[in-house]
Amino acid sequence: MNNNKYEVLIIGGGISGGTLLYNLALHSDVQSMCLIEKYDHLDPLNSNAQSNSQTLHCGDIETNYSREKADHVRGGAEMMLQFVNNSSGDETLKRNYGKMLLGVGEKEVAFVKARFEMISDLYPTLRTVDADAIAEIEPNVALIDGKPREEPIFGLYNEIGWAIDYGRVTENCIAQAQGVGEKTVDVKLSTEATKITRTENGFEVKVKHGDTLHCKFLVVSAGTYSLHLAQSMGKGKKFSVLPVSGSFYFAPEVLKGKVYTVQNPKLPFAAIHGDPDMTKPNTTRFGPTALMLPVLERFNAKTAIGFFESFHFTKGTASALFHLMKDKDIRNFIYENIGYEVPIHGKKSFLKQVLKIVPSMQLDDLDFAEHTTGVRPQLIDEEKGELLMGAAKFSDGDGVIFNMTPSPGATSAFANAAEDLVTVTQYLDRQINTESFKTVFGVLPA
Ligand SMILES: Cc1cc2nc3c(=O)[nH]c(=O)nc-3n(C[C@H](O)[C@H](O)[C@H](O)COP(=O)(O)OP(=O)(O)OC[C@H]3O[C@@H](n4cnc5c(N)ncnc54)[C@H](O)[C@@H]3O)c2cc1C
Repeated sequence: MNNNKYEVLIIGGGISGGTLLYNLALHSDVQSMCLIEKYDHLDPLNSNAQSNSQTLHCGDIETNYSREKADHVRGGAEMMLQFVNNSSGDETLKRNYGKMLLGVGEKEVAFVKARFEMISDLYPTLRTVDADAIAEIEPNVALIDGKPREEPIFGLYNEIGWAIDYGRVTENCIAQAQGVGEKTVDVKLSTEATKITRTENGFEVKVKHGDTLHCKFLVVSAGTYSLHLAQSMGKGKKFSVLPVSGSFYFAPEVLKGKVYTVQNPKLPFAAIHGDPDMTKPNTTRFGPTALMLPVLERFNAKTAIGFFESFHFTKGTASALFHLMKDKDIRNFIYENIGYEVPIHGKKSFLKQVLKIVPSMQLDDLDFAEHTTGVRPQLIDEEKGELLMGAAKFSDGDGVIFNMTPSPGATSAFANAAEDLVTVTQYLDRQINTESFKTVFGVLPA
């Protein structure tokens, strides 16, 4: 199709948009598709390696996942790994680091032991580690000046754990899609969708400084902006977005692998953890913080407008926020995270969290990671007065999908894109090439 008319149009050049473009181009008979990105390059925001923790979340060390969620996330993580192994042609998109869940103090030690009983059958390579074993694997976690730290510690350790450069996975997907010669696969950068209108045959998408685009099926994978765009079309009105930005601190290489801590099960954000940064040699990154801010992009004040258009001060949002603040642990967590942003004091209070992981860490060894930050679009269900724990999708069988993707949205991107592939092809009466899909992912699209 020409004249800016496509079967499928995807808004958003992050990992959600990239994985779907790849699926449509390589594993379906959809003939014309276009992806637009408002910035002048791909993965400018949350999918970039600077913006997220680069963790392939499998559910083995994330204590805020139920057993069911852990199992579900594991399936999505496997698809990401299979893509890197079987399709990307680029082994450097992934790196193997061991992963540890660390319990500190009697209460957490007991919790970690119980957690192992609950999930160990799902993870054949997961094992328990006592203080001596931790000292072998991560000396800086267990020892201070060569002597055991004071508090009891106990962990779960999986030597098979992966960091993924999700930004480069996005670029790889899009390059592969564009390499499919016999189809129309357009990628338009510096192209911001400003208005979506339903037409007789699909959708008309107006873009800033460019020609209007037309499509039969529209997928909005615009990260923190998806809810705003959905609501401009009358969808998802009962939700508000709560943007939770995350920043990091750099330290010298004090950890060999990823070390996570016990999380508050009532919160969808990971507690501060330590990770080797796969894009920065000899560096350990600690974070992310979790700061609620009224912007859709950190350090971009103009995006406050989008926030205020998709956050409603209703009884439901007030109730969800009140319930959060009523809980002492959550209240402290929120205050602490505000504190991390205060100059000088912030670094000192952040150090307290890092000391839980590396008890010998010094203040001078921590440096705020400038512009290494992202925003998680958590949703509030205004009718239920609840904070949603994970991703959300609006897909009513009417030719449009909106994806809202907080963590672990990058890990789950291929699983999510497989779901969208099914919805899009069914709607357009197109076929999925299940054989080629299975060759890459080892499973059929659900
Ligand atoms: C601090 C932090 C740590 C995280 N750690 C992990 C982790 O370790 N593992 C994990 O799996 N997940 C992690 N996540 C979550 C993960 O980063 C996201 O779920 C994922 O990157 C979302 O990808 P996306 O493509 O949906 O959105 P994005 O990457 O945000 O992409 C959306 C794109 O849409 C574009 N866009 C927006 N509006 C428009 C418009 N109107 N027109 C055109 N383009 C538009 C934006 O510019 C952007 O490029 C983390 C997130 C944060 C913030």
